[in-house]
Amino acid sequence: MIELKGIVKIYDKNVSDKPALNNVNLTIYDGELVSVIGPSGSGKSTLLNIIGCMDRATEGQYILNGVDVYSCSRKKYDLLRKDNIGFVFQHFALMDKFTAYENIELPLLAHNIKRTQRNRMINDAMERLGILSEKGKMPSKMSGGQQQRVAIARALVTGCNILLADEPTGALDQATGREVIRILKEINASGTTVIIVTHDSGIAEQTNRIIEICDGELV
Ligand code: ADP
Ligand code: MG
Repeated sequence: MIELKGIVKIYDKNVSDKPALNNVNLTIYDGELVSVIGPSGSGKSTLLNIIGCMDRATEGQYILNGVDVYSCSRKKYDLLRKDNIGFVFQHFALMDKFTAYENIELPLLAHNIKRTQRNRMINDAMERLGILSEKGKMPSKMSGGQQQRVAIARALVTGCNILLADEPTGALDQATGREVIRILKEINASGTTVIIVTHDSGIAEQTNRIIEICDGELV
């Protein structure tokens, strides 16, 4: 469960007097399928980064699965992220110099998982995403939809229980985008909490809850 209490994010206290997030209170229960909508610059990515422990709030409390995130040591904080969170981005964020297989392998290396087990986990993830045939391909040789599937496989391969997707269809054509949303819904149906930032009201309407954000505040 995700609990945000009085979250404020100010990037640069000297420059901006307007916080990127202002007093955000939000609870997301395990297994929810949620979308986050709002105009550009309203704080959607900031919110997702804070939930994903990629960035820390300036003020407020974040409780993740019962753990007070900001009172953790750096090491525990990193573990919280590694054990719970998967992230998918608009532009896939794959490593250009690595094959699809190697990209999915990266988080497993960070978890110190042995080679034979890694191999099995990567194959399972690739099969689940329908990209087994792309194993040896470089990202630059793959379509946008295939690259996003690799990115989703990389996010899922360690068994995260929260999947965060920041405009995951923003760089895809409509049909491919629909397919990616279908995959994210399928992942949610198997029990993973899924949070999707989107500009597309058609996508938001397919989720169980729409969170609207404007000028850093929940509407
Ligand atoms: P959205 O994802 O809704 O477009 P963001 O969360 O990226 O919005 O941005 C919210 C506000 O915070 C904007 O005013 C943006 O300029 C500012 N911001 C975002 N990231 C940074 C950063 N790394 N440094 C300084 N300001 C930032
Ligand atoms: Mg954004």
